[in-house]
Amino acid sequence: MSDKQAFDRALTEIQNSLRYLADHGWRGFDCSQQSLARIEQWGRTPLQRSESLADIAADLGDCRRCRLARERKRIVFGEGNPKAKLVFIGEGPGFEEDRQGRPFVGPAGQLLTRIIEAIKLDRDQVYICNVIKCRPPGNRNPEPDEIKTCLPFLERQLAAIQPDYICALGTFAAQTLLKTATPISRLRGRFHDYNGIKLLPTYHPAYLLRNPDKKRDVWEDMKMLMKEFHYEN
Ligand code: URA
Repeated sequence: MSDKQAFDRALTEIQNSLRYLADHGWRGFDCSQQSLARIEQWGRTPLQRSESLADIAADLGDCRRCRLARERKRIVFGEGNPKAKLVFIGEGPGFEEDRQGRPFVGPAGQLLTRIIEAIKLDRDQVYICNVIKCRPPGNRNPEPDEIKTCLPFLERQLAAIQPDYICALGTFAAQTLLKTATPISRLRGRFHDYNGIKLLPTYHPAYLLRNPDKKRDVWEDMKMLMKEFHYEN
């Protein structure tokens, strides 16, 4: 069965289920004629291009959805090429990122910039963002509810950019995106799948600043990424 046939079949099932529920007087969710008519159109209109990064930033606004809003100075949405083939994702803003409203501009960011240049790219060619958009007080780890609140915005950014590759920097980014508790030391070194995008976990640059002996592992990961990326682009 083609994707289109599978989509049409799923659509028909949804329509039939809603009609059945509507006919039997169900309440509590929208099975109005208006809603059924809108669903009827789904299969007929061409698929819409996903929203832009600007739309997502506008929706995020001056976000107050979680407690991190209280102490942050600036929201760090992300920056770079909106059509990047490669996206770097860190954990969350630190002191300098919070001050400037830009991702990876502190000491770890300077190392990330050198890593990006080492793979023969520059910051403007890639996109750089984080799992959470506001700095946790004192750079503590993000809480699960803070990640849960913020993650949909990262997911929407990735859907808008549609990169071919993601480099997940450190435990939080890798475990959050891959929905696993496997340690970064076991996740790194190979590509994983994230919604059809090749995701390569590696150590976080801040970890490298504390453990310079791990730079060798990151360089192995970057060589792998570079080989695939430059072969395809
Ligand atoms: N560490 C991160 O994970 N992200 C940043 O933006 C800066 C430091």
